[in-house]
Amino acid sequence: MILGGPGAGKGTQAEGICQYLDIPSISTGEVLREAIANQTSLGQKARPYVEKGELVPDDIMIQFIRQRLLQPDVSQGWLLDGYPRTAFQAEELDFLLEDLGQQLDWAIYLNVPNDVLASRTIQRSRSDDKPLIIRRRIELFYQSTIPILEYYSPRDRLMKINGNQPAEQVQQEIFTQLSGSATSQA
Ligand code: AMP
Repeated sequence: MILGGPGAGKGTQAEGICQYLDIPSISTGEVLREAIANQTSLGQKARPYVEKGELVPDDIMIQFIRQRLLQPDVSQGWLLDGYPRTAFQAEELDFLLEDLGQQLDWAIYLNVPNDVLASRTIQRSRSDDKPLIIRRRIELFYQSTIPILEYYSPRDRLMKINGNQPAEQVQQEIFTQLSGSATSQA
């Protein structure tokens, strides 16, 4: 999985990692934006939260991920982009993976300073990238998502990457660590 605040570069890095490992990505932010645009029932439920930069309630997200990870296209591996975002989502994901007989290899955390997150996000043109909403999203990131990093560190599942450098360099660091782990864990 790849974790980071708004504007940390999750989407860009997820794309590179998925190509490198030949696995599909599940970006909850993208899924939600598409569901909202298509006015599906998930979209209707999620819309008021996404528009305000709030987190979509855990029960909705957990149910979505449970269904999504049962699909055949992700049976051989996956990258979660933007999930989990709360301690509850992280714990439930572990239960789900146990049920599925799968395990998490890495929680990749893109570490980017607060002011860089804000300035990168403000340059995008998504509807939830307005200054007040960005502030709320960054606040929620520190409040809800940063604490779950500790959840992944004890079993050496956390890969902390300096995300405040050019995208190619970030990618290189991730690939180096991923390939190092492939030989050392084999
Ligand atoms: P992102 O593109 O990952 O920044 O996500 C955009 C928005 O989708 C977030 O601001 C939340 O409103 C919602 N969202 C995405 N992933 C989650 C999640 N795991 N839990 C709750 N809300 C989420």
